[in-house]
Amino acid sequence: MLGPPAVARPRVPVLLPVALDQTYDYAVPAGLEIEPGDFVIVPFGPQTRIGLVWDQPVGDQGKPVDEKKLKAIIERMDVPGLPAISLRFAEWVGRYTLAPLGMVVRMMMSAQAAFEPAKPRLGVARVEGAAEPPRMTPARKRALDIAADGLIRAKSALASEAACSAGVIDGLIEAGCLVEVVIPERRFPRPDPAHATVTFTDAQQEAVETLAAAVEAGTFSVSLLDGVTGSGKTEVYFEAVARTLDQGRQALIMLPEIALTSQFMDRFKARFGAPPAEWHSALSGPERGRVWRAAATGEARVIVGARSALFLPYADLGLIVVDEEHDPGFKQEDRVHYQGRDMSVVRAHLGRAAVVLASATPSIESHVNARTGRYRHLILPGRYTGVDLPEITPIDLRSAPPEKGRWLSPVLVEAMAETMAKRQQTLLFLNRRGYAPLTLCRSCGHRIECPQCTAWLVEHRFRNRLNCHHCGFSMPLPSKCPKCGEADSLVACGPGVERIDEEVRERFPEARIALLSSDLIPSLTEMRDIIKRIEGGEIDIIIGTQIVAKGHHFPDLSIVGVIDGDLGLAQGADPRAAERTFQLLHQVTGRAGRALAKGAGYIQTHMPEHPVMDAIVRGDREAFIEREIRTRQLAMLPPFGRLASLIVSARHKETAESVARDIARRAPAAPRIEVLGPAEAPISVIRGRYRWRLLLKAPRELDIQAYLRAWLAEIPEIKGDLRLTVDIDPYSFL
Ligand code: ADP
Ligand code: ZN
Repeated sequence: MLGPPAVARPRVPVLLPVALDQTYDYAVPAGLEIEPGDFVIVPFGPQTRIGLVWDQPVGDQGKPVDEKKLKAIIERMDVPGLPAISLRFAEWVGRYTLAPLGMVVRMMMSAQAAFEPAKPRLGVARVEGAAEPPRMTPARKRALDIAADGLIRAKSALASEAACSAGVIDGLIEAGCLVEVVIPERRFPRPDPAHATVTFTDAQQEAVETLAAAVEAGTFSVSLLDGVTGSGKTEVYFEAVARTLDQGRQALIMLPEIALTSQFMDRFKARFGAPPAEWHSALSGPERGRVWRAAATGEARVIVGARSALFLPYADLGLIVVDEEHDPGFKQEDRVHYQGRDMSVVRAHLGRAAVVLASATPSIESHVNARTGRYRHLILPGRYTGVDLPEITPIDLRSAPPEKGRWLSPVLVEAMAETMAKRQQTLLFLNRRGYAPLTLCRSCGHRIECPQCTAWLVEHRFRNRLNCHHCGFSMPLPSKCPKCGEADSLVACGPGVERIDEEVRERFPEARIALLSSDLIPSLTEMRDIIKRIEGGEIDIIIGTQIVAKGHHFPDLSIVGVIDGDLGLAQGADPRAAERTFQLLHQVTGRAGRALAKGAGYIQTHMPEHPVMDAIVRGDREAFIEREIRTRQLAMLPPFGRLASLIVSARHKETAESVARDIARRAPAAPRIEVLGPAEAPISVIRGRYRWRLLLKAPRELDIQAYLRAWLAEIPEIKGDLRLTVDIDPYSFL
């Protein structure tokens, strides 16, 4: 007798979070319900891995795998699945950036703890009515007194509160005075859209209404919220967040420097009565898992995060705010090279959400989109307080140079002294960490370079070390020249913030000074603490790198001095160098005089006649934008043309060069696409790898990805220690 015909087992395509652009079919065991977006455990080679069930096969499937050889899903994980929008978004990002889909998905899974079984955390609590322990020591008494409130605490927390050892707590458990209990999982509080109300100015009200309508429409839209620092942009987009909450949808606020934004969190709490969920690199592993899951279940209503927050598995994202949308920090430069601002527009389009791009100095890209009507342009004129923007004075270093070995022009020093006398604050800005960017031997002229990079080592005097800012190499400051051996011959050339700090301490010994540089501040808490002290007027002079330029509001700050206004303009190959300098100078000088009264900005420069400097000084933003748009248009630079970089790197100089040349030779002919290079990269060696670059330039309407895909298909396999990086819409040209 023949048995019943074999029924093919159902199969589903599964994507693995590895550098592959394809799904593999797996059989679904009987009784298991599997849906697209589910996370599953599957056998993969000799191991098992987490995979993501896709809704259609991806990539070259070849011949279908024979039924008998088909491996089966081991189990479905107890994790919320990804919504269909996340799958479409991943595909979109992969196609656009040319990153393998598996790598994009891996980025979406970047919260390991979310995929591990939740470990119930145990804490201790007082046993009500328990008798005193047989032996009562002072430490035991302290612990019991604290636990008398009946709250559940982690063992370690109770021990530290009672200043005793964990052993004391264990003893109390043994004696039956304390009991171990599961700490209930913390829930994300719900922000209340009606918690506080704001009375808006007419211009603000108009913007508020437009954004409210955009959110309530439940469709895709992009609005550029354009207004000087202090014009109320945050206040206005908070209303858009409130309307999103009213709609029952989630909101994401992306910030470029999430680690520094305690002020922002406080403001959010004041407006909504509860803090938002935070997502950034300083979160602990378990906390990441918690936020990831809460984004997926919808428990987290508002998430404030860095660019990677865009890839969380939102249940229903209705609004994305990109604050400081012009900030280059939204561009990710490794693994999946994406521009968070641009991808937020894509994400919103897929999910019928509204986007608000907010900035006092919008990117040229966004200005052009606003002009062509692709984005709504909402303008908030002037500061809410009515205080004018600071008056900017260029200090011509040719006619008013600092004394030899000093970095502050007498003009700036005098302004600082006056500010001190008025008991107001000064901010000095220099976008360079460390003490000096170059260490030179007076005797033989040797310049100390990184052994692994073509870059000078930067002296960090507080730590007494020379550091490489490209690879992290570090060595103690030598006492003699490593080349000629001459003792005491090394001299520091040029200033970094630590050197400015030294000069300020000499000139103003009575001043209370805060030096803010990312390498000097050990933790987020410490940073937030310093910021609080600045806000509270406990600091007279703030010296900082670009971490001071962003997002802070210092009510007593009356003058800002820029030590080297020309610093950003020298970046030859970078088409955004002028724009970025303008934004940074505008932003940092804009910190002056927010609450108090009109402030003043001073910019030390060797070229006050430079158009960027001229526009800053005259406060003529429109003139700068006009000029910059025209320049980009003529040169077919973004957003009028598209760029893509190819970077070839290898341990051997010859390999890098010959492979780069070979790749260039294989470029398909296309009349409207220019392939520039290959050329040695400006930083030709990083971490011992030789780097060569190619730059593609194409008209905007051309499908540069299709061209690149065809090209890359012609390239022999990249193997061994060779590496080829593709960067669409590059922001770095080094
Ligand atoms: P921006 O985001 O444009 O820099 P903010 O939203 O931070 O501006 O506003 C600057 C300051 O003015 C903040 O302290 C804010 O609370 C206050 N502010 C702005 N608009 C209003 C308003 N309509 N009512 C009360 N305070 C406001
Ligand atoms: Zn290095």
